[in-house]
Amino acid sequence: MEFGITDEQIDIRNAVREFVKKEILPYADEWDKQETFPYSTVKAMGQLGIFGCCLPEEYCGNNTGFLSQMIITEEIARGSSSLRVLVNTQALGTALTINKHGTKEQKEKYIHKLITAEYLGCFAITEPNVGSDIMSMETTAEEKDDHFLLNGTKTWISQASLADVMLVYAYTDKSAKSKGMSAFLLEPKGLQGVNIEKIDKLGTKLLPTCEVSFSDVKIPKENLLGKLGEGSSIVFSSLCQTRLSAAAGGVGVAQACLDVATQYATKERKQFGKQIGEFQMVQDIIAKMVIEIETAKLMVYKAAWQKDHGKIHNDLEVAEAKYLAGETAVHCADGAMRIFSAYGYSTEYAISRYLRDAYAYPLVEGTSNICKWITAMDHLGYRKANK
Ligand SMILES: Cc1cc2nc3c(=O)[nH]c(=O)nc-3n(C[C@H](O)[C@H](O)[C@H](O)COP(=O)(O)OP(=O)(O)OC[C@H]3O[C@@H](n4cnc5c(N)ncnc54)[C@H](O)[C@@H]3O)c2cc1C
Repeated sequence: MEFGITDEQIDIRNAVREFVKKEILPYADEWDKQETFPYSTVKAMGQLGIFGCCLPEEYCGNNTGFLSQMIITEEIARGSSSLRVLVNTQALGTALTINKHGTKEQKEKYIHKLITAEYLGCFAITEPNVGSDIMSMETTAEEKDDHFLLNGTKTWISQASLADVMLVYAYTDKSAKSKGMSAFLLEPKGLQGVNIEKIDKLGTKLLPTCEVSFSDVKIPKENLLGKLGEGSSIVFSSLCQTRLSAAAGGVGVAQACLDVATQYATKERKQFGKQIGEFQMVQDIIAKMVIEIETAKLMVYKAAWQKDHGKIHNDLEVAEAKYLAGETAVHCADGAMRIFSAYGYSTEYAISRYLRDAYAYPLVEGTSNICKWITAMDHLGYRKANK
């Protein structure tokens, strides 16, 4: 059994770590406070190849694979959890899905622009009445002569107010159940019938999250992604990739919590004449953080490695990794808060941002319960997770 990562992956990690140290960490708290989206940094991320690991070179990707993409995602989240979301909005939830299901024209039009961040993307699944239960989606796209007519409301859509391209899922034939959902690409800026409102939220502050309503929005027929009725297989296949990147993000946020807690306990805070890191009860918190992070990271890397070796629809391993990484992010934020104590409660230190951001991880891209459900159903033999 080989647990190492390759020299190329070590170089990628070091390059991104350096980028995060110089271009993200010094500004992340201020962007968060001001809710400023850092366009130039996002463009620089695009130029560095951060969004291109799972995409082919002909569309500006670098084809270095899922494990490289997860290593990168973890490093970005270590600097800014909000910016790691872009791995999904630019790459795995959009460009990769277009690459798998799109026509040649759709691929040529969108993929390189998403990877280079010339275009910002988003994907819209969730609705006001529809969270985990995706198949009960209410948005519809009615087929007309030369277009579809889209009606409904999506919510919690990351980056929607900035997006140049949106991947929307809707029922084209509700009576056909899983064979009646379809996927569409639309360009929402200035499109008649589209209304986008920003949601005020606890964390992930620099990235807008939005409610998007569609009222008789005309979608040209050529904007259908994949075949009519293929939407549910597209959405679940796409979720198996975006869920893993959320898991890598959880590991990154947990690692950020450990970084600042270690610095504070060993270099900054003394009580009773000692660095607080010398107290065993503080060491207990640190030890648990170290072990949980290592375990979650191994599970994320294993699932990514499987994808790189042809097992792309490894829903079971992805759900297990996502569950553990999401919980680890919250445990580590809680542990770091206890070590910082009153100073953690102030907004002076980054830990308050990490705490707010960490709480997204047990719920985005499949809640912890849903990930446990997938795992238990598979183990008990009621429903196999991997196709
Ligand atoms: C910051 C942020 C960004 C997001 N970005 C996007 C985006 O870009 N695009 C998008 O489409 N969506 C996005 N979402 C939505 C996210 O994917 C949903 O929040 C998630 O799918 C869960 O849905 P829900 O929050 O409505 O919870 P619900 O499904 O309503 O669940 C509520 C509770 O019930 C539990 N529950 C539900 N069903 C079961 C079950 N069968 N068994 C056990 N427990 C169950 C859940 O685990 C949870 O604890 C985002 C959300 C946030 C917070």
